[in-house]
Amino acid sequence: MVLADLGKRINGAVNSALSNTQDDYATAVDSMLKGIVTALLEADVNISLVSKLRNNIKSKLMESKGKSINNVQTKKLIQKTVFDELCNLVDCHEKEPFKPKKKKTNVIMFVGLQGSGKTTSCTKLAVYYAKRGFKVGLVCADTFRAGAFDQLKQNAIKARIPFFGSYTETDPVKVAEEGITKFKKEKFEVIIVDTSGRHRQEQELFREMIEISRVVKPHQTIMVLDASIGQAAEQQSKAFKESSDFGAIILTKMDGHAKGGGAISAVAATNTPIIFIGTGEHIHDFESFSPKSFVSKLLGIGDIESLFEQIQTVSNKEDTQAMIENIQQGKFTLADFKKQMQTIMKMGPLSNIAQMIPGMGNMMNQVGEEETSKSMKKMVYVLDSMTKEELNSDGRVFIDQPSRLVRVARGSGCSVFDVEMILMQQQMMANMAQSAKAAKQGGGRGMPGM
Ligand code: GDP
Repeated sequence: MVLADLGKRINGAVNSALSNTQDDYATAVDSMLKGIVTALLEADVNISLVSKLRNNIKSKLMESKGKSINNVQTKKLIQKTVFDELCNLVDCHEKEPFKPKKKKTNVIMFVGLQGSGKTTSCTKLAVYYAKRGFKVGLVCADTFRAGAFDQLKQNAIKARIPFFGSYTETDPVKVAEEGITKFKKEKFEVIIVDTSGRHRQEQELFREMIEISRVVKPHQTIMVLDASIGQAAEQQSKAFKESSDFGAIILTKMDGHAKGGGAISAVAATNTPIIFIGTGEHIHDFESFSPKSFVSKLLGIGDIESLFEQIQTVSNKEDTQAMIENIQQGKFTLADFKKQMQTIMKMGPLSNIAQMIPGMGNMMNQVGEEETSKSMKKMVYVLDSMTKEELNSDGRVFIDQPSRLVRVARGSGCSVFDVEMILMQQQMMANMAQSAKAAKQGGGRGMPGM
Protein backbone atom coordinates (compact mmCIF):
# COMPACT_ATOMS: atom_id res chain seq x y z
CA MET A 1 0.00 0.00 0.00
CA VAL A 2 1.51 3.35 -0.97
CA LEU A 3 1.59 6.23 1.47
CA ALA A 4 -1.20 8.17 -0.24
CA ASP A 5 -3.45 5.16 0.30
CA LEU A 6 -2.36 4.91 3.92
CA GLY A 7 -3.36 8.54 4.44
CA LYS A 8 -6.72 7.95 2.76
CA ARG A 9 -7.39 4.87 4.88
CA ILE A 10 -6.54 6.64 8.14
CA ASN A 11 -8.67 9.63 7.15
CA GLY A 12 -11.46 7.25 6.18
CA ALA A 13 -11.36 5.54 9.58
CA VAL A 14 -11.40 8.88 11.43
CA ASN A 15 -14.15 10.34 9.26
CA SER A 16 -16.38 7.32 9.56
CA ALA A 17 -16.04 7.47 13.35
CA LEU A 18 -16.86 11.19 13.28
CA SER A 19 -19.96 10.71 11.17
CA ASN A 20 -21.17 7.78 13.21
CA THR A 21 -24.48 8.60 14.84
CA GLN A 22 -25.49 5.15 15.99
CA ASP A 23 -22.67 3.73 18.09
CA ASP A 24 -21.74 5.01 21.51
CA TYR A 25 -18.42 6.78 22.00
CA ALA A 26 -16.37 3.71 23.00
CA THR A 27 -17.67 1.57 20.13
CA ALA A 28 -17.04 4.31 17.57
CA VAL A 29 -13.47 4.81 18.90
CA ASP A 30 -12.83 1.05 18.73
CA SER A 31 -14.01 0.77 15.17
CA MET A 32 -11.89 3.79 14.16
CA LEU A 33 -8.84 2.24 15.82
CA LYS A 34 -9.43 -1.02 14.00
CA GLY A 35 -9.35 0.84 10.67
CA ILE A 36 -6.18 2.76 11.58
CA VAL A 37 -4.39 -0.35 12.87
CA THR A 38 -5.19 -2.40 9.74
CA ALA A 39 -4.01 0.41 7.47
CA LEU A 40 -0.70 0.82 9.34
CA LEU A 41 0.00 -2.91 9.42
CA GLU A 42 -0.69 -3.21 5.71
CA ALA A 43 1.79 -0.36 5.14
CA ASP A 44 4.45 -2.49 6.87
CA VAL A 45 4.69 -0.58 10.13
CA ASN A 46 6.06 -2.81 12.88
CA ILE A 47 3.32 -4.51 14.89
CA SER A 48 4.59 -3.44 18.32
CA LEU A 49 4.67 0.22 17.22
CA VAL A 50 1.14 -0.08 15.90
CA SER A 51 -0.12 -1.61 19.09
CA LYS A 52 1.58 1.14 21.14
CA LEU A 53 -0.08 3.78 18.97
CA ARG A 54 -3.42 2.04 19.35
CA ASN A 55 -3.15 1.93 23.14
CA ASN A 56 -2.02 5.55 23.37
CA ILE A 57 -4.90 6.82 21.24
CA LYS A 58 -7.39 4.70 23.11
CA SER A 59 -6.26 5.75 26.57
CA LYS A 60 -6.15 9.44 25.63
CA LEU A 61 -9.62 9.29 24.12
CA MET A 62 -11.10 7.29 26.98
CA GLU A 63 -9.66 9.70 29.53
CA SER A 64 -11.71 12.43 27.93
CA LYS A 65 -15.24 13.03 28.93
CA GLY A 66 -16.63 12.44 25.42
CA LYS A 67 -19.92 10.63 25.66
CA SER A 68 -21.14 11.33 22.19
CA ILE A 69 -19.02 11.54 19.09
CA ASN A 70 -21.25 14.28 17.69
CA ASN A 71 -19.86 17.07 19.68
CA VAL A 72 -17.43 19.60 18.23
CA GLN A 73 -15.00 19.33 21.13
CA THR A 74 -14.93 15.54 20.92
CA LYS A 75 -14.36 15.60 17.16
CA LYS A 76 -11.45 17.99 17.57
CA LEU A 77 -9.99 15.83 20.31
CA ILE A 78 -10.16 12.70 18.16
CA GLN A 79 -8.52 14.43 15.19
CA LYS A 80 -5.80 15.96 17.33
CA THR A 81 -5.06 12.73 19.20
CA VAL A 82 -4.72 10.72 15.99
CA PHE A 83 -2.53 13.45 14.48
CA ASP A 84 -0.27 13.67 17.55
CA GLU A 85 0.15 9.93 17.84
CA LEU A 86 1.02 9.58 14.15
CA CYS A 87 3.62 12.32 14.68
CA ASN A 88 5.03 10.38 17.63
CA LEU A 89 5.34 7.34 15.42
CA VAL A 90 7.80 9.08 13.08
CA ASP A 91 9.43 11.32 15.67
CA CYS A 92 12.47 10.09 17.56
CA HIS A 93 12.44 13.28 19.65
CA GLU A 94 15.97 14.26 18.74
CA LYS A 95 16.48 17.65 20.36
CA GLU A 96 18.81 19.51 18.00
CA PRO A 97 19.38 18.16 14.50
CA PHE A 98 22.88 18.69 13.08
CA LYS A 99 23.40 22.06 11.43
CA PRO A 100 26.67 22.76 9.56
CA LYS A 101 28.58 25.78 10.83
CA LYS A 102 29.61 28.56 8.47
CA LYS A 103 33.36 29.15 8.02
CA LYS A 104 34.13 25.75 9.58
CA THR A 105 34.75 22.36 8.00
CA ASN A 106 31.71 20.12 8.37
CA VAL A 107 32.19 16.55 7.21
CA ILE A 108 29.15 14.45 6.36
CA MET A 109 29.57 10.76 5.60
CA PHE A 110 26.96 8.70 3.77
CA VAL A 111 26.36 5.00 4.36
CA GLY A 112 23.78 2.60 2.95
CA LEU A 113 23.39 -0.35 0.67
CA GLN A 114 24.03 -0.12 -3.05
CA GLY A 115 20.96 0.98 -4.94
CA SER A 116 19.42 2.75 -1.96
CA GLY A 117 19.99 6.13 -3.62
CA LYS A 118 23.14 7.13 -1.79
CA THR A 119 25.04 8.83 -4.62
CA THR A 120 21.91 10.64 -5.78
CA SER A 121 21.15 11.82 -2.24
CA CYS A 122 24.76 13.00 -1.70
CA THR A 123 24.35 15.33 -4.65
CA LYS A 124 20.90 16.43 -3.54
CA LEU A 125 22.22 17.31 -0.09
CA ALA A 126 25.21 19.10 -1.65
CA VAL A 127 22.82 21.22 -3.71
CA TYR A 128 20.66 21.86 -0.65
CA TYR A 129 23.62 23.30 1.29
CA ALA A 130 25.09 25.12 -1.73
CA LYS A 131 21.75 26.91 -2.17
CA ARG A 132 21.99 28.03 1.43
CA GLY A 133 25.35 29.67 0.85
CA PHE A 134 27.77 26.94 1.94
CA LYS A 135 30.88 26.04 -0.04
CA VAL A 136 30.27 22.34 -0.69
CA GLY A 137 32.46 19.53 -2.08
CA LEU A 138 31.72 15.86 -2.86
CA VAL A 139 34.16 12.98 -2.29
CA CYS A 140 33.66 9.55 -3.86
CA ALA A 141 35.08 6.93 -1.48
CA ASP A 142 33.46 4.02 -3.29
CA THR A 143 36.32 2.18 -4.95
CA PHE A 144 34.51 -1.15 -4.96
CA ARG A 145 32.04 -0.50 -7.73
CA ALA A 146 33.46 0.30 -11.14
CA GLY A 147 31.68 3.37 -12.39
CA ALA A 148 30.84 4.76 -8.95
CA PHE A 149 33.21 7.70 -9.41
CA ASP A 150 31.88 8.40 -12.89
CA GLN A 151 28.33 8.48 -11.54
CA LEU A 152 29.17 10.90 -8.75
CA LYS A 153 31.20 13.00 -11.19
CA GLN A 154 28.31 13.27 -13.66
CA ASN A 155 25.87 14.19 -10.91
CA ALA A 156 28.30 16.74 -9.47
CA ILE A 157 28.98 18.36 -12.84
CA LYS A 158 25.25 18.67 -13.52
CA ALA A 159 24.74 20.25 -10.12
CA ARG A 160 27.92 22.37 -10.41
CA ILE A 161 29.38 20.97 -7.21
CA PRO A 162 33.19 20.47 -6.96
CA PHE A 163 34.12 16.80 -6.58
CA PHE A 164 37.03 14.52 -5.75
CA GLY A 165 37.73 10.85 -6.54
CA SER A 166 40.22 8.52 -8.18
CA TYR A 167 40.17 6.06 -11.07
CA THR A 168 43.32 4.28 -9.92
CA GLU A 169 43.41 4.25 -6.11
CA THR A 170 41.76 1.10 -4.73
CA ASP A 171 41.82 1.98 -1.05
CA PRO A 172 38.63 3.93 -0.18
CA VAL A 173 40.12 5.14 3.10
CA LYS A 174 42.99 6.81 1.22
CA VAL A 175 40.65 8.47 -1.27
CA ALA A 176 38.45 9.77 1.53
CA GLU A 177 41.45 11.12 3.41
CA GLU A 178 42.90 12.83 0.33
CA GLY A 179 39.55 14.34 -0.58
CA ILE A 180 39.00 15.75 2.88
CA THR A 181 42.54 17.17 3.02
CA LYS A 182 42.15 18.83 -0.38
CA PHE A 183 38.77 20.41 0.37
CA LYS A 184 39.81 21.45 3.87
CA LYS A 185 42.84 23.26 2.45
CA GLU A 186 40.54 25.09 0.05
CA LYS A 187 38.29 26.13 2.94
CA PHE A 188 35.25 24.11 1.92
CA GLU A 189 32.55 24.32 4.58
CA VAL A 190 30.58 21.15 3.85
CA ILE A 191 32.39 18.04 2.61
CA ILE A 192 30.16 15.11 1.73
CA VAL A 193 31.72 11.65 1.51
CA ASP A 194 29.95 8.94 -0.49
CA THR A 195 30.94 5.38 0.46
CA SER A 196 30.50 1.94 -1.03
CA GLY A 197 27.27 0.06 -0.53
CA ARG A 198 28.45 -3.38 -1.44
CA HIS A 199 31.30 -5.76 -0.74
CA ARG A 200 32.29 -9.34 -1.27
CA GLN A 201 31.05 -9.96 2.25
CA GLU A 202 28.74 -7.92 4.36
CA GLN A 203 31.18 -7.87 7.28
CA GLU A 204 33.85 -6.33 5.04
CA LEU A 205 31.49 -3.53 4.11
CA PHE A 206 30.85 -2.70 7.76
CA ARG A 207 34.59 -2.89 8.54
CA GLU A 208 35.24 -0.46 5.70
CA MET A 209 32.65 1.97 7.09
CA ILE A 210 34.40 1.93 10.47
CA GLU A 211 37.81 2.52 8.83
CA ILE A 212 36.59 5.44 6.70
CA SER A 213 34.77 6.92 9.64
CA ARG A 214 37.92 6.75 11.78
CA VAL A 215 39.83 8.76 9.17
CA VAL A 216 37.24 11.31 8.02
CA LYS A 217 35.86 11.91 11.54
CA PRO A 218 32.40 12.89 10.29
CA HIS A 219 30.38 15.52 12.12
CA GLN A 220 27.36 13.68 10.90
CA THR A 221 26.86 10.21 9.42
CA ILE A 222 23.72 9.71 7.37
CA MET A 223 22.22 6.38 6.42
CA VAL A 224 20.29 6.27 3.15
CA LEU A 225 17.31 3.98 3.24
CA ASP A 226 15.13 2.95 0.30
CA ALA A 227 11.53 3.42 1.43
CA SER A 228 10.32 0.59 -0.78
CA ILE A 229 12.11 -2.24 1.03
CA GLY A 230 9.38 -2.70 3.63
CA GLN A 231 10.09 -4.63 6.82
CA ALA A 232 13.73 -5.23 5.78
CA ALA A 233 14.44 -1.58 6.59
CA GLU A 234 14.47 -2.30 10.30
CA GLN A 235 17.14 -5.03 10.13
CA GLN A 236 19.22 -3.11 7.65
CA SER A 237 19.30 0.03 9.71
CA LYS A 238 20.12 -1.88 12.91
CA ALA A 239 23.13 -3.49 11.18
CA PHE A 240 24.43 -0.14 9.94
CA LYS A 241 23.81 1.47 13.30
CA GLU A 242 26.18 -0.99 14.95
CA SER A 243 29.03 -0.30 12.52
CA SER A 244 28.68 3.36 11.70
CA ASP A 245 26.42 4.78 14.39
CA PHE A 246 24.68 7.11 11.96
CA GLY A 247 22.88 10.08 13.41
CA ALA A 248 20.30 10.68 10.70
CA ILE A 249 18.37 8.93 7.95
CA ILE A 250 17.52 10.01 4.41
CA LEU A 251 14.55 8.10 3.11
CA THR A 252 14.56 7.75 -0.68
CA LYS A 253 12.01 6.80 -3.34
CA MET A 254 9.05 8.17 -1.44
CA ASP A 255 7.58 9.07 -4.81
CA GLY A 256 7.21 5.49 -5.97
CA HIS A 257 5.11 2.70 -4.62
CA ALA A 258 6.76 2.90 -1.26
CA LYS A 259 4.83 1.48 1.64
CA GLY A 260 7.05 3.58 3.88
CA GLY A 261 5.95 1.77 7.02
CA GLY A 262 9.14 -0.27 7.24
CA ALA A 263 11.18 2.88 7.21
CA ILE A 264 8.99 4.39 9.89
CA SER A 265 9.78 1.34 12.02
CA ALA A 266 13.50 1.85 11.32
CA VAL A 267 13.29 5.28 12.92
CA ALA A 268 11.97 3.74 16.10
CA ALA A 269 14.35 0.74 16.04
CA THR A 270 17.44 2.95 15.81
CA ASN A 271 16.04 6.00 17.57
CA THR A 272 17.34 8.12 14.71
CA PRO A 273 15.53 10.94 12.93
CA ILE A 274 14.71 11.04 9.24
CA ILE A 275 16.07 14.39 8.06
CA PHE A 276 15.24 14.41 4.35
CA ILE A 277 13.12 12.44 1.94
CA GLY A 278 13.87 11.78 -1.71
CA THR A 279 10.82 12.18 -3.91
CA GLY A 280 12.28 11.50 -7.37
CA GLU A 281 15.43 11.07 -9.41
CA HIS A 282 15.94 14.77 -10.07
CA ILE A 283 18.29 16.88 -7.92
CA HIS A 284 15.45 19.02 -6.64
CA ASP A 285 13.26 16.08 -5.64
CA PHE A 286 14.34 16.44 -2.06
CA GLU A 287 12.47 17.72 0.97
CA SER A 288 13.48 18.25 4.54
CA PHE A 289 11.52 16.01 6.84
CA SER A 290 9.66 16.92 9.96
CA PRO A 291 7.19 14.58 11.65
CA LYS A 292 4.44 17.19 11.69
CA SER A 293 4.87 18.03 8.00
CA PHE A 294 4.97 14.37 7.06
CA VAL A 295 1.76 13.52 8.89
CA SER A 296 0.04 16.66 7.59
CA LYS A 297 0.82 15.60 4.04
CA LEU A 298 -0.11 12.00 4.75
CA LEU A 299 -3.54 13.10 5.91
CA GLY A 300 -3.89 15.62 3.08
CA ILE A 301 -4.20 18.63 5.36
CA GLY A 302 -1.35 20.63 3.82
CA ASP A 303 1.99 21.56 5.20
CA ILE A 304 2.68 25.24 5.50
CA GLU A 305 6.19 24.88 6.96
CA SER A 306 7.68 22.86 4.08
CA LEU A 307 5.93 25.03 1.57
CA PHE A 308 7.60 28.14 2.89
CA GLU A 309 10.95 26.46 3.04
CA GLN A 310 10.64 25.54 -0.63
CA ILE A 311 9.41 28.99 -1.55
CA GLN A 312 12.34 30.63 0.21
CA THR A 313 14.82 28.68 -1.89
CA VAL A 314 13.32 29.65 -5.25
CA SER A 315 12.05 33.18 -4.86
CA ASN A 316 13.91 36.35 -4.10
CA LYS A 317 14.32 37.47 -0.52
CA GLU A 318 12.27 40.68 -0.62
CA ASP A 319 9.35 38.86 -2.16
CA THR A 320 9.15 36.30 0.61
CA GLN A 321 10.19 38.52 3.51
CA ALA A 322 6.84 40.28 3.76
CA MET A 323 5.02 36.95 3.58
CA ILE A 324 7.19 35.42 6.28
CA GLU A 325 6.64 38.41 8.54
CA ASN A 326 2.91 38.04 8.05
CA ILE A 327 3.02 34.32 8.83
CA GLN A 328 5.03 34.95 11.96
CA GLN A 329 2.26 37.23 13.11
CA GLY A 330 -0.25 34.52 12.32
CA LYS A 331 -1.55 36.34 9.21
CA PHE A 332 -1.95 35.18 5.63
CA THR A 333 -3.45 37.64 3.16
CA LEU A 334 -4.76 37.07 -0.33
CA ALA A 335 -1.66 38.85 -1.65
CA ASP A 336 0.48 36.27 0.17
CA PHE A 337 -1.63 33.58 -1.43
CA LYS A 338 -1.12 35.08 -4.89
CA LYS A 339 2.66 35.36 -4.46
CA GLN A 340 2.71 31.80 -3.30
CA MET A 341 0.76 30.50 -6.31
CA GLN A 342 3.06 32.32 -8.73
CA THR A 343 6.16 30.91 -7.05
CA ILE A 344 4.74 27.42 -6.90
CA MET A 345 4.13 27.42 -10.62
CA LYS A 346 7.83 28.13 -11.12
CA MET A 347 8.85 25.44 -8.67
CA GLY A 348 7.61 22.21 -10.28
CA PRO A 349 7.11 19.31 -10.32
CA LEU A 350 3.65 20.13 -9.17
CA SER A 351 3.07 16.75 -7.53
CA ASN A 352 5.66 17.54 -4.84
CA ILE A 353 4.22 20.92 -4.06
CA ALA A 354 0.51 20.18 -4.26
CA GLN A 355 0.67 17.91 -1.23
CA MET A 356 1.63 20.89 0.91
CA ILE A 357 -1.43 22.99 0.13
CA PRO A 358 -4.65 22.12 1.93
CA GLY A 359 -7.07 20.47 -0.45
CA MET A 360 -4.59 20.34 -3.34
CA GLY A 361 -3.04 16.99 -2.50
CA ASN A 362 -6.40 15.29 -2.65
CA MET A 363 -7.29 17.08 -5.86
CA MET A 364 -4.02 15.94 -7.39
CA ASN A 365 -4.72 12.34 -6.43
CA GLN A 366 -8.18 12.50 -7.91
CA VAL A 367 -7.78 14.48 -11.13
CA GLY A 368 -4.08 14.31 -11.95
CA GLU A 369 -1.32 16.83 -12.57
CA GLU A 370 -2.72 18.49 -15.70
CA GLU A 371 -6.08 19.35 -14.14
CA THR A 372 -4.42 20.56 -10.93
CA SER A 373 -2.13 22.77 -12.96
CA LYS A 374 -5.17 24.23 -14.77
CA SER A 375 -6.87 24.99 -11.46
CA MET A 376 -3.79 26.72 -10.18
CA LYS A 377 -3.69 28.93 -13.25
CA LYS A 378 -7.34 29.74 -12.66
CA MET A 379 -6.46 30.76 -9.12
CA VAL A 380 -3.87 33.19 -10.39
CA TYR A 381 -6.42 34.73 -12.85
CA VAL A 382 -8.87 35.18 -9.98
CA LEU A 383 -6.23 36.75 -7.75
CA ASP A 384 -5.10 38.99 -10.64
CA SER A 385 -8.62 40.39 -10.83
CA MET A 386 -8.64 41.55 -7.23
CA THR A 387 -7.82 45.09 -6.18
CA LYS A 388 -4.81 45.90 -4.03
CA GLU A 389 -7.11 46.51 -1.07
CA GLU A 390 -8.73 43.11 -1.52
CA LEU A 391 -5.39 41.35 -1.90
CA ASN A 392 -4.01 42.90 1.24
CA SER A 393 -7.05 41.86 3.22
CA ASP A 394 -7.72 38.61 5.00
CA GLY A 395 -10.66 37.99 2.66
CA ARG A 396 -13.38 39.31 4.95
CA VAL A 397 -14.13 42.18 2.54
CA PHE A 398 -15.77 39.61 0.29
CA ILE A 399 -18.09 38.48 3.04
CA ASP A 400 -19.00 42.08 3.88
CA GLN A 401 -19.58 42.98 0.22
CA PRO A 402 -20.56 39.93 -1.85
CA SER A 403 -20.82 42.10 -4.98
CA ARG A 404 -17.02 42.00 -5.02
CA LEU A 405 -17.23 38.25 -5.63
CA VAL A 406 -19.28 38.80 -8.77
CA ARG A 407 -16.89 41.48 -10.04
CA VAL A 408 -13.80 39.30 -9.53
CA ALA A 409 -15.52 36.29 -11.11
CA ARG A 410 -16.42 38.33 -14.20
CA GLY A 411 -12.95 39.89 -14.43
CA SER A 412 -11.21 36.54 -14.31
CA GLY A 413 -13.61 34.61 -16.53
CA CYS A 414 -14.30 32.21 -13.65
CA SER A 415 -17.42 31.42 -11.65
CA VAL A 416 -18.37 32.91 -8.28
CA PHE A 417 -17.94 29.40 -6.91
CA ASP A 418 -14.28 29.38 -8.12
CA VAL A 419 -13.65 32.64 -6.29
CA GLU A 420 -15.29 31.27 -3.15
CA MET A 421 -13.14 28.16 -3.31
CA ILE A 422 -9.99 30.26 -3.43
CA LEU A 423 -11.13 32.32 -0.48
CA MET A 424 -11.76 29.10 1.39
CA GLN A 425 -8.25 27.81 0.65
CA GLN A 426 -6.67 31.10 1.66
CA GLN A 427 -8.71 30.91 4.87
CA MET A 428 -7.34 27.43 5.56
CA MET A 429 -3.80 28.68 5.05
CA ALA A 430 -4.53 31.62 7.35
CA ASN A 431 -5.77 29.17 9.99
CA MET A 432 -2.60 27.16 9.58
CA ALA A 433 -0.52 30.30 10.03
CA GLN A 434 -2.52 31.01 13.18
CA SER A 435 -2.01 27.56 14.64
CA ALA A 436 1.70 27.56 13.67
CA LYS A 437 2.05 30.81 15.61
CA ALA A 438 0.06 29.45 18.55
CA ALA A 439 2.11 26.23 18.58
CA LYS A 440 5.35 28.24 18.60
CA GLN A 441 4.17 30.45 21.43
CA GLY A 442 2.69 27.64 23.46
CA GLY A 443 5.44 25.13 22.61
CA GLY A 444 2.74 22.60 21.82
CA ARG A 445 1.57 21.07 18.60
CA GLY A 446 -1.31 22.67 16.81
CA MET A 447 -3.30 20.77 14.31
CA PRO A 448 -3.11 22.75 11.11
CA GLY A 449 -6.20 23.01 9.04
CA MET A 450 -8.37 20.96 11.38
P1 GDP B 1 23.48 4.11 -4.67
O1 GDP B 1 23.89 2.81 -5.30
O2 GDP B 1 23.02 3.91 -3.27
O3 GDP B 1 24.51 5.17 -4.77
O4 GDP B 1 22.18 4.58 -5.44
P2 GDP B 1 21.99 5.61 -6.64
O5 GDP B 1 22.14 7.00 -6.16
O6 GDP B 1 22.84 5.18 -7.78
O7 GDP B 1 20.44 5.38 -6.96
C1 GDP B 1 19.94 4.14 -7.43
C2 GDP B 1 18.74 4.44 -8.35
O8 GDP B 1 17.69 5.00 -7.59
C3 GDP B 1 19.06 5.45 -9.43
O9 GDP B 1 18.42 5.05 -10.61
C4 GDP B 1 18.48 6.75 -8.91
O10 GDP B 1 18.12 7.64 -9.96
C5 GDP B 1 17.27 6.23 -8.15
N1 GDP B 1 16.85 7.13 -7.07
C6 GDP B 1 17.58 7.68 -6.07
N2 GDP B 1 16.79 8.40 -5.24
C7 GDP B 1 15.53 8.32 -5.71
C8 GDP B 1 14.25 8.86 -5.30
O11 GDP B 1 14.10 9.55 -4.28
N3 GDP B 1 13.19 8.54 -6.08
C9 GDP B 1 13.30 7.75 -7.21
N4 GDP B 1 12.20 7.50 -7.91
N5 GDP B 1 14.47 7.23 -7.61
C10 GDP B 1 15.56 7.52 -6.89
